[in-house]
Amino acid sequence: MKKTLKDIDVKGKKVLVRVDYNVPLDSDLNITNDKRIAATLPTIKYLLDNDAAIILISHLGRPKGKAVPEMSLKPVAPKLAELLGKPVKFVEGDCISADSKKAAADLKPGEILLLENLRFHPEEEGKNAAGEKDKAAMDAFAKQLASMGEVFVQDAFGTVHRAHASTAGIVKYVKDACAGFLVEKELKFLGEALDNPARPFVAILGGAKVSDKINVIENLLTKVNAIIIGGAMAYTFLKSQGVSTGRSLVEDDKLDLASDILKKAKEKKVDFLLPLDHVIVDKLNFSDMTVPADAKIDTTNDDTVPFGFMGVDVGPKSIEKFSSVVKSAKTIVWNGPLGIFEIDSFSKGTVELAKAVADATDNGAVSVVGGGDSVSAVKKAGVDKRITHISTGGGASLEFLEGKELPGIAALQDK
Ligand code: AMP
Repeated sequence: MKKTLKDIDVKGKKVLVRVDYNVPLDSDLNITNDKRIAATLPTIKYLLDNDAAIILISHLGRPKGKAVPEMSLKPVAPKLAELLGKPVKFVEGDCISADSKKAAADLKPGEILLLENLRFHPEEEGKNAAGEKDKAAMDAFAKQLASMGEVFVQDAFGTVHRAHASTAGIVKYVKDACAGFLVEKELKFLGEALDNPARPFVAILGGAKVSDKINVIENLLTKVNAIIIGGAMAYTFLKSQGVSTGRSLVEDDKLDLASDILKKAKEKKVDFLLPLDHVIVDKLNFSDMTVPADAKIDTTNDDTVPFGFMGVDVGPKSIEKFSSVVKSAKTIVWNGPLGIFEIDSFSKGTVELAKAVADATDNGAVSVVGGGDSVSAVKKAGVDKRITHISTGGGASLEFLEGKELPGIAALQDK
């Protein structure tokens, strides 16, 4: 178990908090969605209540190691101040400049300082000024960040799967390093689902590619009672079993792998559920995700996709079967949509499954949803408030489900 905020003494101390303020901005640099800022309020308020001086560090966008004015964290400071009802200081320019260090040194308990975008420095992502990998440069940068505080709190789950200066690097240069409330919550729900699930434990995996989720499937096969597969991924599995898939998206170089997975699932007595029927279309503009007016949309009677068509959503029989399996589950983990849910006519499978997950949760199941598209899907279905835990980190939650060590978590101190 990693130390969390309540395990350490923050009173009167300077506390560096890694937050995820990678917020969307419009062309006038207005924040269009402040949920990532709001999500950090519990940790910040706890630190304020406990007389800490708070130094917030974050990245925004992908400035690739250069100062890019449109990716400044400046607009975040007034928004955070508004949400907290308290002033938030911001130092322009550079997060480790003399001005930033002075502002940190002058900060008093109960005050908040936000530093500039960490990724204006290539060292944050482990590179030097020439853009080459350079661990010594990353460590030197991490040490400078650490010099501004005494305690480090990791509250940016979305970045803990990266070994960056502000995730893994900084920890060795501070006295105490622990998880903030957001990260603690992620570890609790993802960790309990994988290590100690109430059964039946059902995983729902969708999305575009088998290759992206292969490690997740392999790891979950050792833990779950059933895996439901939807999305384009399903067609690689179906084709590997000799089922015709028409023009559906198939990874032909992964057919053997798909076959092996199906064999393993059988050996491990994991119910591996593939779609029983499909919504199909003969034409689709992938570039702008539109269906041409003269396209033919149909539903198949079985799992085969006719010549000239592609599978774009699971059909009604699949929805019924998948929903009944989900409704009998006591633990549910979901990553990836079951169809091209961005297009309304192909979103029914994903939306209905989201409702089934919400119903199961109302009946006492624990449900954990991760990945940007799955999160959008539960929102589209209007059931996001009924899910036990929606992960704030797509990549990080996927790596957690793969059973990988997350560098930003591994680096934190143990209890
Ligand atoms: P991922 O990022 O791997 O979770 O993939 C999400 C993407 O998979 C979404 O943009 C979906 O539109 C896409 N997707 C889901 N089902 C299909 C399908 N049957 N054919 C093509 N793309 C799909």
